[in-house]
Amino acid sequence: MSAVLERFLRYVRYDTQADESSDTYPSTPTQLLLLRELARELETLGAADVRMDDHGYVTATVPATSAKADIPAIGFIAHVDTSPEMSGAGVTPIVHRRYDGRDIVLPDDSTVVLRRAENPALGERIGDDIVTASGTTLLGADNKAGVAEIYSGHHVPVEDLQIAEGQATAILLEAGVDARWISCDRGDDAEIEVPPECGRPPGPKELVLRMRPAGLIPGTHDVSMGSSLVGAGASGMPVFSTVHPDRVTVVADAARVDRRVLLGRAIAHEIGHLLLDTSRHAERGLMRARWSTRELRQEADADWKFLQSESETMVAALARRHRDWSKDGSAVSRNSGALNPVALVMTTVPTPAPAFLVEEADAVHAGSEMSESRWSSWPDDET
Ligand SMILES: [Zn+2]
Repeated sequence: MSAVLERFLRYVRYDTQADESSDTYPSTPTQLLLLRELARELETLGAADVRMDDHGYVTATVPATSAKADIPAIGFIAHVDTSPEMSGAGVTPIVHRRYDGRDIVLPDDSTVVLRRAENPALGERIGDDIVTASGTTLLGADNKAGVAEIYSGHHVPVEDLQIAEGQATAILLEAGVDARWISCDRGDDAEIEVPPECGRPPGPKELVLRMRPAGLIPGTHDVSMGSSLVGAGASGMPVFSTVHPDRVTVVADAARVDRRVLLGRAIAHEIGHLLLDTSRHAERGLMRARWSTRELRQEADADWKFLQSESETMVAALARRHRDWSKDGSAVSRNSGALNPVALVMTTVPTPAPAFLVEEADAVHAGSEMSESRWSSWPDDET
């Protein structure tokens, strides 16, 4: 299921029916339940200054992702209240996969039929997935579809992520670390099933990578493209990295290099922090603190790989994780036959992240050090 559809199906289940005779604002208090949830979700999306006022207006800003001056701000507005004319309680959305063009009889009231003859728009959607209510309520697509679209507006295209993962895999493999990727992101592809690993806390050999846009302050030349939580975590091993794909794109554009390659290098760098269990940086190689525009363009091989000593430390760390992992009998079979220590890497693009991840991240954060790689200021060498 796509992220936008998942959101939409979740939002329509909230009863937000308006009441014209009400003198409160919003007209029904139940609207506030969804609005509070939406405010919380904006926080997890990484939006800035999330606010909900006394009347339930939820506002937030996403900082610019371009360093250009004088670019206009764009506002996206949607509403959650639904028509007072039909019940908004107990909405049961139905997804009609690959609509076949026939009239749609709604199951909870067979007299309610969506006829193509009366709804020409249906004819334009043959083969698409269609969402309807079940017959006794409205659906609330006006305007929760708008809310879902706004909230789902930014994620890394699946193909970009695959290329970035390929880049990171090559870098890690050269260091002796064989990575396997599990994508917990469905992007916009409704056919992608999220693997079961995405629904449970990570094991000792698993790392979690979050793709989280962070925005950019225009004119800033010192950009953190990611961070990792290192030091003593809940499980005793660092697990969580975050990469900011929007910032990677800005840095790549400024240097005129491939953003997907840079994203892969950024991912490998953050995984390096996790496997090396340190927030420290090296003088040379992939784990150096700053990547300049000149270096980005230069493409010197040595700049984008781990040092020999780092490789050895990472392989040893993975072997330790392997032993811990193997103590749990249920997991042993998963490691048999692996030549290199295998790092299972989960990539989670979706936001909000599953609850267990957020809780785990908070727990880890409480007892650990943040690496905050202040990388890649770009025009430190505008020559
Ligand atoms: Zn770093």
